[in-house]
Amino acid sequence: MNDKQNAIDHEASRLAALMDYHILDTPQEPAFDDIVEVASIICQAPVAVINFIDKDRQWFKSVKGLSVRETPLDISICSHAILQPGLFVVPDTTQDERFASNPLVTGDPFLRFYAGALLKSPDGYPLGTLCVLDYHPRDIDQQQRFALQALANQVMAHMELMRSHREQKRLIAELESARHEMANLAATDVLTGLLNRRAFERRLRSTLASIKRGASPAALVMLDIDNFKQINDMYGHPVGDSAIKCFAERCRSIVRQADVLARWGGEEFMLLMPHTTVDEAYQAASRLRQLLASQAMIADTTEPLYVTASMGICSLDEASNLQDRLRDVDQLLYQAKERGRDCIALEGPSPDLGSSA
Ligand code: GH3
Ligand code: MG
Ligand code: MG
Repeated sequence: MNDKQNAIDHEASRLAALMDYHILDTPQEPAFDDIVEVASIICQAPVAVINFIDKDRQWFKSVKGLSVRETPLDISICSHAILQPGLFVVPDTTQDERFASNPLVTGDPFLRFYAGALLKSPDGYPLGTLCVLDYHPRDIDQQQRFALQALANQVMAHMELMRSHREQKRLIAELESARHEMANLAATDVLTGLLNRRAFERRLRSTLASIKRGASPAALVMLDIDNFKQINDMYGHPVGDSAIKCFAERCRSIVRQADVLARWGGEEFMLLMPHTTVDEAYQAASRLRQLLASQAMIADTTEPLYVTASMGICSLDEASNLQDRLRDVDQLLYQAKERGRDCIALEGPSPDLGSSA
């Protein structure tokens, strides 16, 4: 009973070791075909095969002289070969009771001679063989035996390389995705999922650089939720958080794919609109104002919670200095606050009052 269980466990581990190479049902490959060809030449045998013993079949990775790529296990000579160490030679299959009635022996292709070298995993599991076969009884000499086993070892060495290459690729992909995730986290504001200030500044610098290289000007919008402190004071900080999240969503819903939206800090946001004039940015800002006026925040309050925002808008062109523009847009926002909030201040001679939008 114990022996039987051991045998079952061993076979399961052997199959697991084989699966770990991901070799079954892969296409033919020159590296394996060359080894089969060399084995055939050295042993002067018309048939040569690299095969693996699967659960219920033997599968040929490379084959010379036979027209099949797999056979059932019950007619496999190699399934016997893997049961013993080293080289397995059957000089005349008709004289061996294990193979005398094998249909591959008694019928086409009438195989009479077999020599197989074990393909063994590093932890000792026999996975298959590199074998040569012939149509008449014969033998191979010591040099041929040595060469056949050496070639079998090369098959395993190649498979080991393929496996470590695959593992390396997997690790690199894993590292790359972790790096990507960390870069995203480092650039993201946790509460809103928008870009954070640092990431926004980076985008701002690169956009300004491309404008200085000839791209069309952009618009920069700074937004600040009005009287936000009162919301916190009245409803508590968690409701304030929900309102900030909801405000970010509202902003997201009015921007285009190419626009860059960020949480600048607290209840302040920045919007960079590439290839956009101040007037076009004003249209977008007005849409946001209308949206805020028509839809209450999704926050856990008894009565509907509406917020308004004040905004400043300036342009970014090839003459712009980044620090100056950040200061300017902040001043425009301040002007909008001064005018009573819930309005939009544009740079230029006739700043617009949002309430007239
Ligand atoms: P103003 O119209 O002048 O902008 O008034 P305000 O109350 O919005 O501005 P003030 O700068 O006086 O207050 C901003 C408040 O925003 C104070 C701060 O506690 C709150 N705040 C900043 N960040 C967060 C946050 O992440 N969550 C919550 N709930 N509140 C925040
Ligand atoms: Mg505010
Ligand atoms: Mg503020």
